[in-house]
Amino acid sequence: MLSYFSTRDDQTKISSAEAIVNGLAPDGGLYVPDDLSALALDYCDVIRRDYRGMAKVVFDKFFPDFGADNIDRIVERSYENKFSAPEITPVSKVGDGFVLELYHGPTCAFKDVALSALPNLMTFASRQIGFEDEILILTATSGDTGSAALCGFSNVPGTKIIVFFPHGGVSDTQRLQMVTQPAPNTGVCAVRGNFDDAQTGVKRLFREIPHPREGVSLSSANSINIGRLVPQVVYYFAAYKSLVEAGEIAEGDRVNYVVPTGNFGDIMAGYFAKVMGLPVGKLICASNRNDVLTEFLSTGHYDKRREFYKTTSPSMDILVSSNLERLLYFVCGSEHTKKYMKALSTAGEYTITADELARIQADFAWYSCDDARGAAAIGDAFHKYGYLMDTHTSIAWGAFEDLKAAGAPEAEGACVVLSTASPYKFTQAVLEALGADVPAGDKEQMDQLAAVTGVPVPASLADIFTKEVKHKSVIDVDEMKDFVVSRA
Ligand SMILES: *Cc1c(COP(=O)(O)O)cnc(C)c1O
Repeated sequence: MLSYFSTRDDQTKISSAEAIVNGLAPDGGLYVPDDLSALALDYCDVIRRDYRGMAKVVFDKFFPDFGADNIDRIVERSYENKFSAPEITPVSKVGDGFVLELYHGPTCAFKDVALSALPNLMTFASRQIGFEDEILILTATSGDTGSAALCGFSNVPGTKIIVFFPHGGVSDTQRLQMVTQPAPNTGVCAVRGNFDDAQTGVKRLFREIPHPREGVSLSSANSINIGRLVPQVVYYFAAYKSLVEAGEIAEGDRVNYVVPTGNFGDIMAGYFAKVMGLPVGKLICASNRNDVLTEFLSTGHYDKRREFYKTTSPSMDILVSSNLERLLYFVCGSEHTKKYMKALSTAGEYTITADELARIQADFAWYSCDDARGAAAIGDAFHKYGYLMDTHTSIAWGAFEDLKAAGAPEAEGACVVLSTASPYKFTQAVLEALGADVPAGDKEQMDQLAAVTGVPVPASLADIFTKEVKHKSVIDVDEMKDFVVSRA
């Protein structure tokens, strides 16, 4: 049966349930399946199913120790009535490309797709391995992922979640999405300080109070958990299915996917889809001005010793892209991966061999766009095609258009651009990109964007300005421990 081991040690094998419960391997590595060939399936059979049917097949391949009946229940619970689009992840045709909309979940962010499933996978996995503690998820958020995590864990039996965010450091929309969360098993708290302070505080709590109360264990929901990656594999199949059904491609045609990338989780899921047998051409990694990944993919040299830029696509602002380690393992093996990761933490850089680079480049392409290029892409897509996109999607859309215009081979054939957030989550930058007036206030900006574009505000965002605020705490970093203990 498929097992898992660390990217830094391919000897110690554990079950998929253990990998999900552990999250990160004890040696600091990430869990990967021990045998990629065991993931192979008949994609033609997969794309005959609806979204949940596809999810069941994919989950069953990755988590064979769960049992098909249990996977069925987990998938139903994860995607029942949570997404506003019946297809879960619909595809829109835009010009001569396609946009895969991953943002129709409860918080209008693509992370909803994975965070809807992770809590159910986690609670099942922990029972499966006889772990009886209640799971308390602790997270620090810079704004964007907190609400998706809260929503995913809300009302999931056997779990609680506490999210810390920097006081005054997130947008009104982001704050309200979190503090209006009504589920009784959720906690939200503003911390005086910046995101790093909150993040460092959370890391310290994991060391100091792994069990804040007897029968309660701390856990994290971050994107290195294999249980967060696997749900993302499904929508690569879903996009392919949509293109076949629309008559845009024939079964067997290769499709390229352009992915706005930060932590490399989303695009890594595409790699797994390809390994499983989906006819994927190139996976095109799109970076913003923080182009550490596109530099790596083009040169084989990863160098985090660089300036960090704050961009209008904040969820892609990154220097260390953790899921890349999974790709390194599959291409370079555990010995080299261990060596590279050590070099990254000590010297801040590493260089893979020419042969390893060539193997990565067989599957991946790359392109980076700065904020100005992204803004132009938003304006173009709207004015030419009437399609409104957010500031992350536009980095990938700009990459697609530039590659296409240059006649690049990686943009030949059908290209699907992954859209990772609703434009209404980043209204100010989107209004600016459209050349529209930008009123003060998040609510006013949403109304303005709707007036200018005719695209309605998603119901779950229109709601937040009138919902009751449930979480009002503001604390100092050194009070975080008491906060967690009192709510554990
Ligand atoms: C997280 C995020 C990304 C980056 O995805 P990774 O899996 O980290 O590469 C892109 N866009 C948005 C809106 C996100 O929230």
